[in-house]
Amino acid sequence: MTFIDLRSDTVTKPGPAMRAAMAAAEVGDDVYAEDPTVRDLEEYVADLFGQPFALFTPTGVMANQLAVRLTVPAGGELVLDADAHIVAHEDGAAAAQGGVQTRTTLSPRGLLDPADLARLIRVGNPYTVGTDLVAVEQTHNRGGGSVYPLERLTAIRELVSGYGLPLHCDGARIWNAHVATGTPLRTYGALFDSLGVCLSKGLGAPAGSVLMMPAEYEAEARRMRHRMGGGMRQAGILAAGGRYALEHHVERLAEDHEHARELAVLLRDAGFAVVDPETNIVLVELGERQPDAAAVAERCRAEGVLVSAFGPRLVRLVTHMDVDAAGCARAASAIAQAAKG
Ligand SMILES: *Cc1c(COP(=O)(O)O)cnc(C)c1O
Repeated sequence: MTFIDLRSDTVTKPGPAMRAAMAAAEVGDDVYAEDPTVRDLEEYVADLFGQPFALFTPTGVMANQLAVRLTVPAGGELVLDADAHIVAHEDGAAAAQGGVQTRTTLSPRGLLDPADLARLIRVGNPYTVGTDLVAVEQTHNRGGGSVYPLERLTAIRELVSGYGLPLHCDGARIWNAHVATGTPLRTYGALFDSLGVCLSKGLGAPAGSVLMMPAEYEAEARRMRHRMGGGMRQAGILAAGGRYALEHHVERLAEDHEHARELAVLLRDAGFAVVDPETNIVLVELGERQPDAAAVAERCRAEGVLVSAFGPRLVRLVTHMDVDAAGCARAASAIAQAAKG
């Protein structure tokens, strides 16, 4: 059976042209900062966002954790929304490895409101933990691929700067925000002190993220990446896949967004409560009379359709380059069948 896999956009596989670019990549030892293809990718991405310095990492989790660890000491505090990837999906890394405490609030669709944020940020003193870093997520994964409007990000930037604090963006899917809104990457880049972007989600590279940050962090960032086990040697083979993805797979994300809107229409027509997709993520809220998300996911699998149970009554579907409109339609009817009694 050929599966329609909508569990995540991480399931995208490199095609023949990307593989050819990877096979042809010039390589060196990237722990010595001597892999020319990695250096090229880092400079290319830094330039796309107008950021001073960039470092290639094996994963988005490592990019986020590096940004956190470079700015928050053990016992220090990171402020962000309660459904952030850093809080929900990084296995407690900030706490387990960095001794970092988080202070969070639940926000509609994961997007922090500047007024709420103002209540969370605090100035430390000998008996009060102070905020060391604020983080936002663009687009927001658990928020259903929601997009921070630029004005909101600008207000957050001003607020955070008012406290003299750095602002990190988990921009694993910032490409989707860029394509959905037309906001230039450099406009986003100018807002953040550090910014992590993912190459292996909708862009379709097999692995890799890039973390941008101030240039003075370079030596410490390289040391810490190595300490975390992320010092890769001939990593240019992976970086070449990322570079290919950036040159060929960014603008096409618009198709994934269109497929997400079509899926939402089909599912609403079938009677489901669907969170409005702003990019490539569709959240389906199951009613009390419907089977739970795990049961729906299991029944769909039997029909060759893979979806994520994202909460007890929440199903997540993520559109991407390896699923076309017909595949989405097949997925919608499998879900409708699966949710019947
Ligand atoms: C996927 C994701 C990451 C990082 O993922 P990796 O699997 O480690 O590459 C970080 N943030 C968000 C919002 C994500 O969706």
